Amino acid sequence: MRLEGKVALITGAGSGIGQAIVERFAAEGARVVINYRPGGKHSGEEAAKLITGRGQKATAIAANVDNRAEVEIMVQQTVATFGRLDIAVCNAGIEIKKPFQDVTDDEWHKVMGVNLYGSFLVSQAAVRQMIKQGQGGRVIFMSSVHEDIPFPGYTAYCASKGAIRMMMRNLALELAQHKITANNIAPGAISTPINEKVMKDPDALKAAAAQIPWGRFGKPEEVAAVAVFLASDEAEYVTGSTYYVDGGLTRQVPKA
Ligand code: NAD
Repeated sequence: MRLEGKVALITGAGSGIGQAIVERFAAEGARVVINYRPGGKHSGEEAAKLITGRGQKATAIAANVDNRAEVEIMVQQTVATFGRLDIAVCNAGIEIKKPFQDVTDDEWHKVMGVNLYGSFLVSQAAVRQMIKQGQGGRVIFMSSVHEDIPFPGYTAYCASKGAIRMMMRNLALELAQHKITANNIAPGAISTPINEKVMKDPDALKAAAAQIPWGRFGKPEEVAAVAVFLASDEAEYVTGSTYYVDGGLTRQVPKA
């Protein structure tokens, strides 16, 4: 049990990578808060029931990460329920595919709002609580290989993830004095609802998998395994870096 006694808040945790992190963290002894988007198609209630049914502790909280009041109330509810907060995983994210010249202000702000501003709000509210507790903490951002490599058609998404990379690096330096670490996980192509379209099209899936040196999409559990390490006491000296979980995607050499 690597997270015994810890309280973890995971955003966007009603599906995909967030849900896998919730499962792993609970199995490692953490008490987990499953955040989900109000009115979204993935509620965290079922996952919370499943986890509490196994005798582990979990609660689901609806909150839009793009809204300061909702985020602050969520952190207050976390503390009211479990007494503290040790680990924040800023995982909620969206993408919109559009040629650069056609992206509207609304689309730009929507993607930046959830991915970047949401990560700022959640990590800030969590860090304030961790500093108050005085026992350190962990901030993990779910960025993407696109914090580094371009993705034509997804400019706002890439801009948001690239900005998270620099936000994380600043946090690592500012928060070291409080023994709070900050790191990014950068997934490659993972089988989750965000990739639903590709996964439902066998030809597109085959073509996408052929771009990955490991020859397949990653599983949400494979991302969760890295999150467990970064959240654990073992990772105390690990701060300010990005951990790629991408089957070698970012390291391949263009084919001749
Ligand atoms: P997903 O669509 O299953 O998960 C995203 C979650 O965020 C959903 O549950 C969604 O409801 C939630 N969400 C969206 N807007 C929200 C809001 N305003 N407030 C709270 N929650 C909100 O897809 P996923 O692949 O599990 O994505 C998780 C994270 O991983 C995202 O940040 C994504 O950018 C990142 N990522 C995924 C991949 C991949 O290939 N799957 C690759 C790189 C990065």
